[in-house]
Amino acid sequence: MNNNPQWVDDLSAFCFPENVGMTVEMGGEVADVITKTHEKMFPCYECGSIHQCINWRGVPHDGDGGFKDASGKTWWLWIGCHLGPYQWAYEKIMLILIDNPMDHQ
Ligand SMILES: [Zn+2]
Repeated sequence: MNNNPQWVDDLSAFCFPENVGMTVEMGGEVADVITKTHEKMFPCYECGSIHQCINWRGVPHDGDGGFKDASGKTWWLWIGCHLGPYQWAYEKIMLILIDNPMDHQ
């Protein structure tokens, strides 16, 4: 693992070679997370902007905090800061989640 990563546009290229984009079609708890967060946002303390809960990514994961897809495979879920290399884990995002202001118009 590279402990001093350079920022790259494609987050899949670094840190987690097995990580893949999560889709609703994967079903199970993975689809639940995508569905329940798709209109939510969170403040990114790394870059100071507000990020939408889109482009969930996952890494195969057997420990606590994982989510199963329809096939029973468990994933650790995260969203990448698109302005820097920071990876927001699901648990951290849930702590700071805010409603999309568009919901309240
Ligand atoms: Zn950010």
